[in-house]
Amino acid sequence: MINETELLSRVPTRVLIDGAWTDTAADFGVWNPATGDELLRIADATAEDGLRALDAAVAAQESWAAEAPRRRAEILHHAWELLIAREDEFALLMTLEMGKPLTESRGEVRYGGEFLRWFAEEAPRIAGRYQRNPAGTGTIVVSRRPVGPCYFITPWNFPLAMATRKLAPALAAGCTVVVKPAELTPLTTLHFAALLQEAGVPAGVVNVVTTTASAAVSAPIIADPRLRKLSFTGSTPVGRRLLRQAADTVLKCSMELGGNAPFLVFEDADLDLAVEGALAAKFRNSGEACTAANRFLVHESVADEFAGRLAQRVQAMRVGRGTDEGVAIGPLIEQKAIEKVHGLVTDAVHRGAKKLCGGTPVAAPGTFYSPTVLSDVPDGAAILTEEIFGPVLAIASFTDESEAVRRANDTEYGLAAYVYTNDLARGQRMIDRIESGMMGLNVAAISDAAAPFGGIKQSGLGREGGGEGINEYLETKYTLIPSASPRP
Ligand code: NAD
Repeated sequence: MINETELLSRVPTRVLIDGAWTDTAADFGVWNPATGDELLRIADATAEDGLRALDAAVAAQESWAAEAPRRRAEILHHAWELLIAREDEFALLMTLEMGKPLTESRGEVRYGGEFLRWFAEEAPRIAGRYQRNPAGTGTIVVSRRPVGPCYFITPWNFPLAMATRKLAPALAAGCTVVVKPAELTPLTTLHFAALLQEAGVPAGVVNVVTTTASAAVSAPIIADPRLRKLSFTGSTPVGRRLLRQAADTVLKCSMELGGNAPFLVFEDADLDLAVEGALAAKFRNSGEACTAANRFLVHESVADEFAGRLAQRVQAMRVGRGTDEGVAIGPLIEQKAIEKVHGLVTDAVHRGAKKLCGGTPVAAPGTFYSPTVLSDVPDGAAILTEEIFGPVLAIASFTDESEAVRRANDTEYGLAAYVYTNDLARGQRMIDRIESGMMGLNVAAISDAAAPFGGIKQSGLGREGGGEGINEYLETKYTLIPSASPRP
């Protein structure tokens, strides 16, 4: 059993610049959302600190790019081994600062760790192309090289995995980085950066700045022409803002943004499977996931039964501190989140939705919301168009397949979708017709380091993971070599 105080005493509290844990002028508190207690006070970086971190990443770029791919792979593999050996420690740290139940935090350590393992395996396999040109007059050589120094901005909901999903491919490709974790959950990234040092990542290759002034610290880094890549995971409004800033230097961008995943249940679905899938797709991470099912669209013939069965299961879910045994729903990240979720529930009920269970904030300390099931949610309710990011399952019904598809696609988002049907032909039609970057067909857990994670429409640009993931960190260079040497 890991001792919380002892663990917190080992978490770095300064920013990491050029391999040194460095003081800043001010600091800020990181809080446990389950208790309202302050966990640690950490460095609050300024714009100058951020630029110093970029200086370090720029200075380390050439030597890291020149490092043997095999060596980069070994370092990543070692980092994976260290992380897995410390699963309990990282899980506890995440639960303390973010709130999710320990079992889910452990799952995130394994999932986040997979990116280290996967990209360790990709590092030595970066390949180019060598081919004769069609005219027969020369050879086309296509080579791949690291993009260069990167800036990563990560969210609070998956404090470890959102960092490893970016760091692992960047390091494998030979890029150096500055990471700015979310101010609500920076401890996991700081602790992980120390692990990377231990695994052999050289000074300057990974730099971490923690700050409460995200916009002020990020803007000069993004505006700096030495930066070559921005990768952001967070909300669509912030993503849009960053894309505008990135336009000035035509900066390469990867954007993992918000979602509004539909969860379709057809009349021919295996309802037992759909209920289990719904619970997982909605309540994992207390609903605070970009891939969380946001709208349950259920055929009218099975909608009541589906809702009733779910309400029974959801009522039995235990709400509490993520460190307590048997807890299924931890706290939401902060009070603002409670207000937003409760506002969406109240609006839906006001418009005629039926509240089958939950629907109330749970008394302090801590920021808890009771797991909720709403049925008969009418069109026009904000809960069907906005990202809920909380433990609220909203069900609406449809009458036929074309209506289901129309409604599923009626959103600016296109991250994940879930489809439950036992009709293979219908399943195949859904793969073609549902506008999303990812889809689970009769399954709710779809994330995998070996698969391309990402969205279409306003859910993002680019992919993380899979064979695709490393491309985000590589430039393509074409060289033509004439067949015969030209005369001098
Ligand atoms: P957020 O957009 O508020 O913040 C994300 C990060 O951006 C944080 O580090 C924050 O400090 C920083 N930030 C905020 N404003 C900024 C600015 N003006 N300039 C620079 N940085 C700024 O999002 P959040 O609340 O932390 O996370 C939840 C959102 O993230 C949800 O919309 C969720 O869907 C999305 N998300 C997407 C994915 C994905 O892979 N598509 C994964 C996880 C979360």
